[in-house]
Amino acid sequence: MPEKMGEIYSINGPVVKAKKMTGFMMHEMVLVGDLKLTGEIIALDEDDATIQVYEETTGLKPTEPVHGTGDLLSVKLGPGLIGSVFDGIQRPLDVLKAQYGDFLKRGVVAEPIDMKKTWTVEMTPIKEGDTVTGGQVIATVKETASVVNKIMIPPNISGKVKNVKSSGKYNVDTVLLTVEGKDGDHDVKLYQSWPVRIPRPYKERLLPREPLVTGIRVIDTFFPISKGGTAAIPGGFGTGKTVVQHQLAKWSDADVIVYIGCGERGNEMTEVLEEFPQLIDPRNGRPLMERTILIANTSNMPVSAREASIYTGITIAEYFRDMGYNVALMADSTSRWAEALREISGRLEEMPAEEGFPPYLASRIGEFYERAGRVNALGENKRVGSVSVIGAVSPPGGDFSEPVTTGTKRFIRCFWELDRQLANARHHPSINWLDSYSEYNSELKEWFSKNIDPDFSKFRDRVMGILTEDDNLQQIIKLVGEDVLPDNQKLIVRVANIVKVGYLQQDAFSDVDSNCPLKKQHEMLKVILKYYDRAGVLVSKGVAVSEVLDDSIVNILMRMKENISMDKFDQFKEIEKKMDSFFDSLDNKYQTVKEA
Ligand code: ADP
Ligand code: MG
Repeated sequence: MPEKMGEIYSINGPVVKAKKMTGFMMHEMVLVGDLKLTGEIIALDEDDATIQVYEETTGLKPTEPVHGTGDLLSVKLGPGLIGSVFDGIQRPLDVLKAQYGDFLKRGVVAEPIDMKKTWTVEMTPIKEGDTVTGGQVIATVKETASVVNKIMIPPNISGKVKNVKSSGKYNVDTVLLTVEGKDGDHDVKLYQSWPVRIPRPYKERLLPREPLVTGIRVIDTFFPISKGGTAAIPGGFGTGKTVVQHQLAKWSDADVIVYIGCGERGNEMTEVLEEFPQLIDPRNGRPLMERTILIANTSNMPVSAREASIYTGITIAEYFRDMGYNVALMADSTSRWAEALREISGRLEEMPAEEGFPPYLASRIGEFYERAGRVNALGENKRVGSVSVIGAVSPPGGDFSEPVTTGTKRFIRCFWELDRQLANARHHPSINWLDSYSEYNSELKEWFSKNIDPDFSKFRDRVMGILTEDDNLQQIIKLVGEDVLPDNQKLIVRVANIVKVGYLQQDAFSDVDSNCPLKKQHEMLKVILKYYDRAGVLVSKGVAVSEVLDDSIVNILMRMKENISMDKFDQFKEIEKKMDSFFDSLDNKYQTVKEA
């Protein structure tokens, strides 16, 4: 068969048109021009194709050729992914950089995973003649200290097994067994390829049941996300989106992290590339990169690579989900991805919708978030895995009515709204506790009740009640000042302040408080509510608010997040004791005064 070859006739930035393209398929990966730049067919009309090119197209000329690959734009999935840093189309940045220096040469090919490295492969007790189906685990490889890779039969393959290798040391290109399918033989290697724009299949979707514990109090306590859930972090420039995303990557209890950086500023991505390799996984003291994959859109990559990066990332996430892992994917920021869509759409001369975005913006956002979920994986040996997706949104001017924010809101179930005023007041994380929401609260109630405290959600609701009431009172205070409030309302305002400063504020850069485990969150809530209850009784008896607001007690409550580290939880008991003796003596004093 002669090689398929088209001919370029128009070049418009990353969008290239070619004729003589009969025989090519939609979404086929193609090699464009003499330099063989990587591209993808995004529209095909008989022999006329529109190609999105993932590399800089400067210098490309009409009449240069387009070569087919016969494959859809795909990623390679196998041992060696963990710890990698990829660009938007899974080219290994570190490898390219080592070979070609800081300025990536165009048209270079580098395998996404090391094809030569040998791995110790432990075969499952599978033997010649056995029947296998897609998703079945046939071997395991200890990929890093934190992750065991499970080698699976690719989703669409089933049949009888032959030529089974025994356990041993192999590279990823080794055929571990062959499956005799209806349509012929399939060699199963340590790696498989999967087209990025097609969600990987699973057996069934499961309901959310367990929180993805983040260590961020305002999230875990008030707006929790479940494993397999979706969340958006909208916020204007500098309100803390990136810091929250980094915190999630460091502290959330996911097994595998996929971090997609669509940086707004060039140096933001550099920070990720420099910072992440130095981070330590708090769970085992090993480098965090042993359970992390980074996808970085460097500034010298064209926008189309940014468009693809989201799909590359989520396909990798689904692959680890299929092994039975809880994967958390962060995308910072999806607005830059949407802008890439807009730019490409503009060059395609499509009819623009709101603010120049293409009319299919919302459905693209939806397709992305719908790939999150908790599932029963394909194949024998039951595995439950999840992909949680957390996308930052950076609306221009912090205006949440713009299309990317509103489009995202339709598909996500947690909305962690970053607040400019809070950020300016250095209240971090600046997640607004009145406008944010989580739709997982009711589904997760049982988990919190079983695993933390039967009353956890009651505590949470009471504290939220204090904050909501405080918000109403703040309106009055603004008009006429705090003095006019009756004492019980003054108390609410003061306790709300303790909650804001002592609970909601959490310094990402603090040694002790950067991560707050659920057990500590629970203890803190308990102590704050105990203070509120005891003080409330005294205030209702007529004791002045100024007296119950003793500095020494208030300071303890404000500082306990920093002063009590994870292994010293019995100190909460001491705080309670101190509080009791303070209120007991105040109570006695008041009784004596009254009797006298
Ligand atoms: P964005 O990504 O929204 O532009 P960043 O995440 O870069 O904003 O945050 C801007 C700055 O705000 C950070 O450099 C840091 O100084 C501060 N900040 C944000 N969140 C926190 C936090 N949780 N703790 C401490 N400082 C924070
Ligand atoms: Mg940022």
